[in-house]
Amino acid sequence: MSEAGAPLRVGISSCLLGSAVRFDGGHKRDSYICGTLADQFDLVPVCPEFEAGLGLPRPPIRLVGDVDHPRAVGVRQPDLDVTAALAAHAASRVETLAGLCGYILKKDSPSCGMERVKVYPEQGGAGVRQGVGIFARALRARWPLLPVEEEGRLGDPVLRENFIQRVFVLHRWQQLVAQGLTKARLVDFHARHKLVLMGHHPGEAKRLGQRVATLDGRRLQSQADAYIQGVMALLARRTSRARQVNVLQHLAGYLKRALDAEDRAELGAVIAAYRHGEVPLVVPLTLFRHHFRRHPDPYIDRQHYLEPHPRELMLRNVL
Ligand code: SF4
Repeated sequence: MSEAGAPLRVGISSCLLGSAVRFDGGHKRDSYICGTLADQFDLVPVCPEFEAGLGLPRPPIRLVGDVDHPRAVGVRQPDLDVTAALAAHAASRVETLAGLCGYILKKDSPSCGMERVKVYPEQGGAGVRQGVGIFARALRARWPLLPVEEEGRLGDPVLRENFIQRVFVLHRWQQLVAQGLTKARLVDFHARHKLVLMGHHPGEAKRLGQRVATLDGRRLQSQADAYIQGVMALLARRTSRARQVNVLQHLAGYLKRALDAEDRAELGAVIAAYRHGEVPLVVPLTLFRHHFRRHPDPYIDRQHYLEPHPRELMLRNVL
């Protein structure tokens, strides 16, 4: 659930939830997704191959030919070509997925793979890892703002936090749009995400801020579209310890007058320990939360930076 109580709907390759829909009647249940993420998100399962009527069990397929426009054919029966069936199903199925705020795909699949899917030469031989699954390609083309990840990459703590942060940001944006787009709401959205954006690239965050500051009410929709595209693209960039330190130092500035010398020194030491990789991000953030509870600041209170996603996910404990 989001802060406002609306469910966060995240699409997912069905086999990752334990559904026995793979070509061999098996599944690829992922315990992190089925446990931790299922508690936070309303997971929407899709199996493009089963739904396209390829049967269960079914002959295994693979991608062949042009890496940008591959065909999906049988591994053992090259004359079995299911490209048209998969593409037609994908084109209609993605239309039913409006309102999702993220998607988790099964890696390496000729249907669901997000990247680096093997594509084989028509005449046989070794494949190259340059393809995208047929459903995954249609999904990304139809919903370009949607944060998309593969289950394998979610094992990386930085990529996992990045994906989930984007899911929550897009969800907040969808709620804003549902309430009705206004200049005031857009300015408020940016103000609340300012420090989150700074953590990815301070220069780009500033440029987005300038864009919001010069909004023209007559072109609000097109400007809002360009703005959220910029936000989601910026958030997809990997953050770094140095950039987070920059945000932490910025935050510390808001406590300069409130803290005594001893507390300021302790805060500085904790930020330095984080910078040197001795403690995870959650350590300075916990100290900041403690100080801002005692010395509230109206600007910091509005920021999502200190709580960008539920603490139960423990995403910043290993960053
Ligand atoms: S990878 Fe995609 S197509 Fe294959 S079984 Fe899983 S959900 Fe179905």
